[in-house]
Amino acid sequence: MLQSAVDIDIRKNPSGRLQQVDFDNLTFGEVFSDHMLTIDYRDKTWKRPVIEPYGPLPLSPATKFLHYGQGVFEGLKAFRYAGGKINIFRLDEHYRRMKRSCERMIIPLPDEELFLETIKVLVDLDRDWVPEDKFKSLYIRPFIFGTDESLGMRESQNYKYIVITSPVGNYYKEGIKPVKLTTMPEFVRATPGGAGEAKVPGNYASSLYPGARAFEQGYTQVLWLDAIERRYVEEVGTSNIFFVIEDKLVTPDLSGSILPGITRKSILELAERWSMPVEERKVAIDELFDLHKQGKLTEVFGSGTAAVVSPVGVIHHEGQKIELGQDKMGPIAQKFYDAITGIHHGEIKDEAGWCHLV
Ligand SMILES: *Cc1c(COP(=O)(O)O)cnc(C)c1O
Repeated sequence: MLQSAVDIDIRKNPSGRLQQVDFDNLTFGEVFSDHMLTIDYRDKTWKRPVIEPYGPLPLSPATKFLHYGQGVFEGLKAFRYAGGKINIFRLDEHYRRMKRSCERMIIPLPDEELFLETIKVLVDLDRDWVPEDKFKSLYIRPFIFGTDESLGMRESQNYKYIVITSPVGNYYKEGIKPVKLTTMPEFVRATPGGAGEAKVPGNYASSLYPGARAFEQGYTQVLWLDAIERRYVEEVGTSNIFFVIEDKLVTPDLSGSILPGITRKSILELAERWSMPVEERKVAIDELFDLHKQGKLTEVFGSGTAAVVSPVGVIHHEGQKIELGQDKMGPIAQKFYDAITGIHHGEIKDEAGWCHLV
């Protein structure tokens, strides 16, 4: 087992469930590995980390988070190299983002060493849960929430930081199906000065209603527009968005209401390494329609940890449609997909130190 500098109370699960898992039929986020990690924050200090069997939490019905949503989460993945080593992808970047999210919600977070070390020990303990198959991975979900037993509308004094992990299957098992997007100009995901930059539960809860309306109209995802002018493209569903415009890679600049995706960052860093022209700027929905008419908009794709990249087939906005005619990934999206998944699995050299091996 991994030797760790951090003192962790490890209580092994005596009845592992690994044999019962059907790795060929995994639904995202429905199977959980044998152990979970908890670090409690009480009396302004972090208590000793505990790794114990995955199971339910005893919570007071007055737990502050349940009422006011003071919480933050992250989502990242571990992949298996051919030789058996396990790669936790961009673990340090996920720490930095979680730290920024926590600052926005006045939540404390374990320091970086404690965060990194405890996740490595947890993944190492459940390393047999990291699937062998190249297109599968172990999804890692760190989260933290206010546990004060109090309905007072102020920040919690006590917190629970927990990490659970879940083996996930191939996102593209049924082949690549380009997503169909519609704008929902009467709704916004995030506002300037709000918490759109932070990975906080409320952002997702409030996106469900517009998402369901889009689905009723035959679209898979909402193309979110900015809150002020309802004109500039921000994100797609829970992913960032990229456009290929006359061989240039274009993505909305981080305006404050866009979630700073780590896949987005990886794509931009690869583009720079490949000397590909990149623009981070405002992208107006009407500009996209004009560019499409002129034949200058050749690819649109989303980016996120779940699928790496996901091609967009249709964009609908106020009765008009852009049909991209993509029935598979476009060449630029494919290039990023191949590079990132290659680095995930150790087939392509990790030049930038993105891989944290256990
Ligand atoms: C998590 C998330 C993303 C993608 O971030 P990654 O770090 O690339 O997974 C994009 N948009 C929203 C709203 C998100 O929650």
